[in-house]
Amino acid sequence: MYDRLIFELDRGDIKNNYLPASSVPEKPLPQLVPEKFLRRQPPKLPEVAENEVVRHFIALSSRNYHVDKGMYPLGSCSMKYNPKINEDVSRLPGFAHLHPLQPEPTVQGALKLMFRLQELLKEITGMVAVSLVPAAGAHGELAGCMMIRKYHDLQGRRRGTMLVPDSAHGTNPASVTIAGMRAVTVRSDADGLVDLEDLKAKLNEDVAGIMLTNPSTLGIFERRIAQIEKLIHGIDALMYMDGANLNALLGIVRPGDLGFDVIHLNLHKTFSVPHGGGGPGSGPVAVSERLKDFLPIPVVREREGRYVLDTSIPHTIGRMITFYGNFAALVRAYTYILMAGAEGLRQIAENAIINANYLLKKTEHLLEVPFKTRPMHEFVLSGEPLRDYEVRVMDVAKRLLDFGLHAPTVYFPLIVKEALMIEPTETESKEMLDQFAEALKQIVREARENPELLRRAPHRTPVRRIDELKANKALNVRFDQKQD
Ligand SMILES: *Cc1c(COP(=O)(O)O)cnc(C)c1O
Repeated sequence: MYDRLIFELDRGDIKNNYLPASSVPEKPLPQLVPEKFLRRQPPKLPEVAENEVVRHFIALSSRNYHVDKGMYPLGSCSMKYNPKINEDVSRLPGFAHLHPLQPEPTVQGALKLMFRLQELLKEITGMVAVSLVPAAGAHGELAGCMMIRKYHDLQGRRRGTMLVPDSAHGTNPASVTIAGMRAVTVRSDADGLVDLEDLKAKLNEDVAGIMLTNPSTLGIFERRIAQIEKLIHGIDALMYMDGANLNALLGIVRPGDLGFDVIHLNLHKTFSVPHGGGGPGSGPVAVSERLKDFLPIPVVREREGRYVLDTSIPHTIGRMITFYGNFAALVRAYTYILMAGAEGLRQIAENAIINANYLLKKTEHLLEVPFKTRPMHEFVLSGEPLRDYEVRVMDVAKRLLDFGLHAPTVYFPLIVKEALMIEPTETESKEMLDQFAEALKQIVREARENPELLRRAPHRTPVRRIDELKANKALNVRFDQKQD
């Protein structure tokens, strides 16, 4: 019966219920789709009962690990709990059934939401203008680098160098390169902060700007930011902030007040939009006065009580995505911000910081702490001491899976040997943090007493230790039941 229904839908014999009558094409579908592309027969879909389908997907979802199942302490990823109300709101028919080519007057509600989100992000970041277009953090970085480059071009000076600290996320130098500039590394000092002497040594008339992550990927707040800002603006270069770690700053510090000219936000991290597996994400950019005429288009404006898509920004870097950004992600982030309110956002950041520092206290004696500076919302441990037992942090990460926990980020940032980067987020309870600390304690004991157990972990997951090299070199993602 379903086959029949799908077949009829395909042929246009049944009108799509969701389209308003006026937008249903005049011509029946068969004439819009050339005859030779139309099915002659219903598709051969497997005949299974609803209960079998439901059981199949529930079985798959329970074999997988996800944030609805337990803690997900991946450093730098802010894998916080995704409130279910975000999903309800993003699925409202008025949002979910829009077509991107609908005329503006028929999508006023969606544009209003986007406009208000732009305003909220301006307030949160302390910047003067926002574009919601970029589809991920890295895409926002590219937008930022392109704006900075064009800004200099327009001033009549060619600048081709972006400074990037050695603790930065790999996407930073990649974005610089794609934007046609060259990434030059700035060293971190013993506190995990930008080494000012090295920074000074790398300043010259080719420097277009600096890309800072604040707090850094070590979870450390860059406390000499005012000095850095003076040096960078002193040579007419611009300040880029990688805002992936904004969860630590919400309601406490505004990047605009620190002197940044552009910041990308990862809505899918800071504002609880589900992510992982490559998207869809959302990486809006917020800019200072200097860059407001360069934003990617379109930007939503309010004109006489109506909302319009503005594409006439004087020096825009242009379009970066087919339409307007990942709209459903914008709806989720907007819902989350309104749910929290101004006070709530600050509490989110404070609790994220408290949780990370609590977990650091519970685990610091187990491994090595490479930087003594007190961290903000995440921290980095080093598994270097375990090498005495020929155990690597990858083995620790794999063993954590046996405890029903997701592993933290490993081997990043690159400047820490055997790095284990832990970000519990504000949404975990003290009991959950204690459980994680307890598991890590037992694993470190096992490393001494039975290292082989760790080297062969995980032992209790549906898929055991995978051959990562083979997975990279001979990737096979075909659906094939025999592979089980
Ligand atoms: C996640 C992250 C990025 C990249 O963001 P995507 O949305 O994954 O493209 C950049 N910088 C830092 C510090 C990050 O944590």
